[in-house]
Amino acid sequence: MVNRMLKVAIVGGTHGNELTGIYLVKQLEQFPERLVRPTLDCITLLANPRAIAANQRYIDRDLNRCFDAADLANATLQNYEEQRAKEIAAQLKPKTQKQVDVIVDLHSTTANMGLTIILSSRDPVNLRLAAYLSQCHADIRIYCGINCGQSNPMLRSLVTLGCTIEVGPVAQGVLDAQRLMQTAMLVQHILDYLDAVQQGNSLSLPSSLTLYQARSTVDYPRNAYGELRAAIHPDRQFQDYQPMYPGDPMFLDFMGESIVYAGETVVYPVFINEAAYYEKQIAMVLTEKQTIDLTAIGVKP
Ligand SMILES: [Zn+2]
Repeated sequence: MVNRMLKVAIVGGTHGNELTGIYLVKQLEQFPERLVRPTLDCITLLANPRAIAANQRYIDRDLNRCFDAADLANATLQNYEEQRAKEIAAQLKPKTQKQVDVIVDLHSTTANMGLTIILSSRDPVNLRLAAYLSQCHADIRIYCGINCGQSNPMLRSLVTLGCTIEVGPVAQGVLDAQRLMQTAMLVQHILDYLDAVQQGNSLSLPSSLTLYQARSTVDYPRNAYGELRAAIHPDRQFQDYQPMYPGDPMFLDFMGESIVYAGETVVYPVFINEAAYYEKQIAMVLTEKQTIDLTAIGVKP
């Protein structure tokens, strides 16, 4: 007995210079049979057409920071991305038709984050999805943002189910064939998983899941004018998901002196030196490495 159809949106180009997701959506629109599953109704969306045409992250404002519920309801917010966010919210969550159940938002990062799945929430469906993907790809990383599952301004937060795929390192405005193929494969695995769940098929999953929970962000050291006083330390560059212990070097100032991590616990930095985050005053995001017991949410080992 098949459950009702699950509506899934595959979104690319939320950031106009992240070509992986843009070209994957274009491919899926060219070969729509790749989206066909018995229990899924899949749609595709290029979220920020003007930014894509300009090969820029955004035109007026970062679109992936425009989906806060209060901002969507604020009629005075009318710049390009603020309008696009309202249009996308209306398209994915129409009041009179079936709303999208799952959003998969495709991104890339200049940080060395490999294949990262950013969960939209810790809903058991998402955690089982993460476990399934971890089983398919040993090198995948599962990440939860600081506002995971709460109201936040990310596009993925429009619904509870789904994730962002964040692959890197990929330079802005560059198409990397390997990352494109890996993202395409992950999308196929996500659709397979959702379809299996909808069909009531039991999947064998691992009994636990390693997850990196974001706790805080760190800005670059800056002078009174906001200019950088130091760069990411060479020992830290590209070391995403590697442990950083108290006293480890984080930054190297322009006198050649190391600036060390002054926290008291081991953390696992990610988004290290992400190009788009200089304007957001984020040099890295500090995460806590967690082991989630999946048997507690009904997964039978
Ligand atoms: Zn992005």
